[in-house]
Amino acid sequence: MDFISHYECTLCGKKLAADLTSLTCPDCGLTGILDVKYDYEAMKKTVTRDYFRSNTDASMWRYAPLMSLKTTDFSRALRVGNTPHYRSHTLEKTLGSGPLYFKDEGANPTGSLKDRASAVGVFKAIEAEKKTIACASTGNAASSLAGNAARMGLDSVIFVPKRAPKGKLAQLQAYGAHLVRIEGDYKATFEMSRKAIESFGWYDRNAAINPHLVEGKKTVAYEIAEQMDFDVPEWVCVSVGDGCTIAGLYKGFLDFFSIGLTRKIPKLLGVQSEGCAPFHRAWKNKTALIETQENTIADSIAVGLPRNPVKGMEAVRKSGGAFITVSDQAILDSALLLGSKEGLFGEPAAAASLAGLVEAYRQNIITADARVTVIITGNGLKDPDSIRDKIPEPVGTYEESDVLRQYLRNHKEEKS
Ligand SMILES: *Cc1c(COP(=O)(O)O)cnc(C)c1O
Ligand SMILES: [Zn+2]
Repeated sequence: MDFISHYECTLCGKKLAADLTSLTCPDCGLTGILDVKYDYEAMKKTVTRDYFRSNTDASMWRYAPLMSLKTTDFSRALRVGNTPHYRSHTLEKTLGSGPLYFKDEGANPTGSLKDRASAVGVFKAIEAEKKTIACASTGNAASSLAGNAARMGLDSVIFVPKRAPKGKLAQLQAYGAHLVRIEGDYKATFEMSRKAIESFGWYDRNAAINPHLVEGKKTVAYEIAEQMDFDVPEWVCVSVGDGCTIAGLYKGFLDFFSIGLTRKIPKLLGVQSEGCAPFHRAWKNKTALIETQENTIADSIAVGLPRNPVKGMEAVRKSGGAFITVSDQAILDSALLLGSKEGLFGEPAAAASLAGLVEAYRQNIITADARVTVIITGNGLKDPDSIRDKIPEPVGTYEESDVLRQYLRNHKEEKS
């Protein structure tokens, strides 16, 4: 909080004072998404490598002074962040790639990277003296909001589209959220939530609207930098829906670079599904974003009309990265690869980032020797049905050990 210099509208460029309470640009309205700007010169003086080395908080709150929060006591919060950054055991060899890492965001308290944003949202709601916080979500924004709100004693109201997977709905119910199911797609759900939030005066956790949430998401980049001893990778791969996650990644790497903690900003690979790729299309054709269908099994990135087009696009452009698309089949193949070769189970939108990397090697966008981090954005247990059709039936019952022996022999052959 101490380091905020001002807010800037991503649409009209207007600068707004640091004590602003509105979530969007007063001139542009809801599409006037704000960016939080920091005084890097001041930040540089206190936020050094030694500052982090002596920081004993093993959660995302170790970065709270670099965010737009007034709160300083996080002792009652869930432990968000500090997720593992694994060096690949097997895929590096299988793919013939350079040093390859997986950032396992599925290890967050509610099982996805969204916890980083929701946790911030909950504290901003408390700062604004709101008792209820609401959002529209395809799943993870909602389940993370419900969990983090429950922990801090807030009510949550969640607007979900018809297609939300069972695992995510179950989480919402377990966390005691008030569920409003909309008979429509994500867009319809979003519009409905906006109306309700306005008329009931709730706190708005919708990621694109709320500029503070990207500030939470950026901590994933800080962690990668710290986990690599400030020698960041050349490429970071992540799947893209609304564009907030990739925007957060860029912001985090930009912050660390701007205060001299790292020497470069990694190139960002934004991965979309072939059946829903508005960012990729706009990037390739150099046009504005055009609404597309939402035709993919990766529900978390099934966003036909992205709500954070400017920040999402700039993250890829300014980092010198690229957008890429992958098929649903490639996503499922990658989910199995990730599980069987690395012991990591990602939901389809999470496995998509690995599918994107494989495709980027194929297209020579990423060269084989590059150091790469792939972000596994959400846990596979959230959407187990997606992978069920891909795997053989469980083995059944055995009276004879011979049958089991034969099965295992066949299964091993099949896999090798
Ligand atoms: C939300 C989400 C994404 C994409 O983030 P956006 O901010 O919508 O671009 C990717 N993977 C998972 C698991 C998510 O929940
Ligand atoms: Zn504006």
